Amino acid sequence: MSGRALPPAGLRPHRYRAPLLKLLDACGEPVSAQTLYAMMRADGTRAGLSTVYRELHLLARMGCVREMRTETETVYDTSARDLLMCDSCGRVQQVGRSVVAGLAEIMDGFYLSGPVTVHGRCRRCGPTAA
Ligand SMILES: [Zn+2]
Repeated sequence: MSGRALPPAGLRPHRYRAPLLKLLDACGEPVSAQTLYAMMRADGTRAGLSTVYRELHLLARMGCVREMRTETETVYDTSARDLLMCDSCGRVQQVGRSVVAGLAEIMDGFYLSGPVTVHGRCRRCGPTAA
């Protein structure tokens, strides 16, 4: 859990926002709005799917969640992990900070200020056609 169960100051309270962030924190991996919607319904929260989308977009704009697009869906994450993400199937793998920091060192004086998501295609999906 990243400990970000409540929205930051300045964000208008909404009754579904805190439960949504709590669920995202508990997931520990990027998930789609549809998955979060199903989880909220299973927990007894009666938010509509459009409300879930609207809240996720707002939280992404505010920098509270990461919004990542694959070829088939958009997924959301609250973690501060550095990730490799397959844009085709959505598979995600965490990478060590030292690996990403090593890439940043290629540009002299470049310091990472937040989590990084490297997009590409996994071995199973293969490279894109040239
Ligand atoms: Zn893939």
